[in-house]
Amino acid sequence: MANVLVFIDNPGDALKKSTLELLTLGRSLGETAVAVNGDLHQDVSATLAEYGVTAVFRPSAQDLDDYLVSAKAAYLAAAAGAARAGTVLLDNSPEGKEIAARLGIRLNAGVITDVVAVDADGTAHKSVLAGSYTTSARATTAVSVLTVKANNVTPEPASVASAPETSIVEVPADGTAAAARVTAREQKAASGRPDLSDARIVVAGGRGVDGDFGPVEQLADALGAAVGASRAATDAGWISHDAQVGQTGKTVSPQLYISAGISGAIQQKAGMQTAKVIVAVNKDAESPIFEIADFGIIGDLFDVLPQATEEIKKRKG
Ligand code: FAD
Repeated sequence: MANVLVFIDNPGDALKKSTLELLTLGRSLGETAVAVNGDLHQDVSATLAEYGVTAVFRPSAQDLDDYLVSAKAAYLAAAAGAARAGTVLLDNSPEGKEIAARLGIRLNAGVITDVVAVDADGTAHKSVLAGSYTTSARATTAVSVLTVKANNVTPEPASVASAPETSIVEVPADGTAAAARVTAREQKAASGRPDLSDARIVVAGGRGVDGDFGPVEQLADALGAAVGASRAATDAGWISHDAQVGQTGKTVSPQLYISAGISGAIQQKAGMQTAKVIVAVNKDAESPIFEIADFGIIGDLFDVLPQATEEIKKRKG
């Protein structure tokens, strides 16, 4: 089995669910090492051991974040060499895909994006056209670079924990790695809500909110949920593009997805149809969202959502 390298970018004090998925998938393919960028918290190291990680690589330079993605690609290329990796796994985020493309060039590796599953022989299955069909592909090169969509693997710790050693990888300071330097960063105000990709409950609004996300946000806060949106709502500028769920937004797989004022176009379904329970609120009984909803409420979201919020608050005391 080929060695696997998983990229973990700025893990903070706990690994994201999507990273645990990559570690679980990696272990099914071979010995899995990780290349970490950023601080390595004690709890994160403990989780890496629980997930059977065999080696941890860290960069010699501490300023990778100052150089957009090019320096991360240079670091990962060096780490892939040190790990003798046959497969490199990354998040399927826009940044993950950009790093993957640059890494593919550096390693002369086949790059496959939007991966939903990988067979033991390295064949990757990729979701195409909003999940309408799946394409299977295998890199014809010695190394393959795969970006994996979230919520397609169940995270599972290894049966036996590991004791990975940490090594420092020299980051080459070549021209392209340092080609674009970050000059400013603006921190958005934190919402205090859970991360949309990992949330157990998502309340999402669409064009039906008509510019007012208030009822959606109030219900989300009563439930401790993340706020999602259709593209119609993000394109209208009613909510940040980070909240978009769907083919060109985030893929979510919560226990509960409450959809309000969203028609259920195929591109929206592609990002949420694996939710365990889907509740749809729509005033049009013929809306396609009801085809996949477990519970449907035909009604005006401006009546239904505030009632639900009030009832939940009452029950919580
Ligand atoms: P609409 O389709 O206009 O539906 C609004 C719904 O709200 C209607 O069903 C209406 O009955 C209901 N409604 C109106 N008022 C109320 C009310 N007061 N109470 C209750 N219900 C009400 N879309 C995404 O969501 N995510 C994507 O990632 C995405 N990617 C795309 C990629 C491509 C290449 C393309 C071509 C399209 C993509 N789209 C995506 C757009 C998608 O095709 C739809 O246009 C979009 O999802 C529609 O958003 P909506 O359901 O909010 O709006």
